[in-house]
Amino acid sequence: MEVIEAVNDLRKIIKEYKKQGETIGFVPTMGFLHNGHLSLMNRAKQETSIVVASIFVNPTQFGPNEDFESYPRDMERDKRLCEENGVDILFIPTVEEMYPDGYSTFVEVAGDLTRQLCGRTRPGHFRGVTTIVAKLFHMTTPDSAYFGKKDAQQVIVIEKMVRDLNMDITIVPCPIIREADGLAMSSRNAYLSPEDRKNARILSRSLFDAIAKIQEGERDPVMTKRLLTEKINSVNQAQIDYVEVVNGKTLQSIPRIEGDVLIALAVKFGKTRLIDNVDVSV
Ligand code: AMP
Repeated sequence: MEVIEAVNDLRKIIKEYKKQGETIGFVPTMGFLHNGHLSLMNRAKQETSIVVASIFVNPTQFGPNEDFESYPRDMERDKRLCEENGVDILFIPTVEEMYPDGYSTFVEVAGDLTRQLCGRTRPGHFRGVTTIVAKLFHMTTPDSAYFGKKDAQQVIVIEKMVRDLNMDITIVPCPIIREADGLAMSSRNAYLSPEDRKNARILSRSLFDAIAKIQEGERDPVMTKRLLTEKINSVNQAQIDYVEVVNGKTLQSIPRIEGDVLIALAVKFGKTRLIDNVDVSV
């Protein structure tokens, strides 16, 4: 595995691979890797000949009072995991490499897609995400890029950016990887106290219950939302940011549960904000 910090070095090596007819699969991450990230790398390895992963904690997608400084980092462990999971090129740029002094260009998917759900409580978050992903796409020029459905809104926003900017890249959404008790894997789970870690099981449990109710015939999004909210609120330490039942493509609210539906939530345990979702096709 090649570990690369400079954009120019990355471009050079990728050009060489492309000349030889290799296909490039790209997995962008913020590191502190877990099985969710590794599942994307493994999928990329199956579908493309060269896997490029990046680890970059992107400051522009964090709000002023968010956890950019304290975001968990362990580069030595991450390097080992990348190597063990078939990554050919690991790109680990510095903040200065990605945003040199005077940097002033941003990519923004405007409108409702980025204003709903996480966009409501994290204004500017998706602008940071699309800016860094667009930059990374230009540097890696991948054939395919792999994203987890854990960040369902992020996948939809990136797909929109790729369509709108005519980027010749296939976006591959990948399933959510969960802990044995259902909690969606996340680098931020490391922040949870043992008690909050236990309490956090309510997120996936209430989402799975909601799916079961829909399978039994529930079609009312308001009722579904109420059930989820009540369950989560039954855990004292849980502070709901949002619970939404929306159209799985447009993220707009829906009068009735039918077609592709996304049930998504964000809940805080102390300072730790966790997200989770399920999608259902009715
Ligand atoms: P992050 O490092 O949190 O920015 O995530 C990097 C990529 O890994 C994103 O595409 C995430 O959606 C994906 N990812 C994070 N957690 C999971 C998970 N539990 N299952 C699947 N993909 C995930």
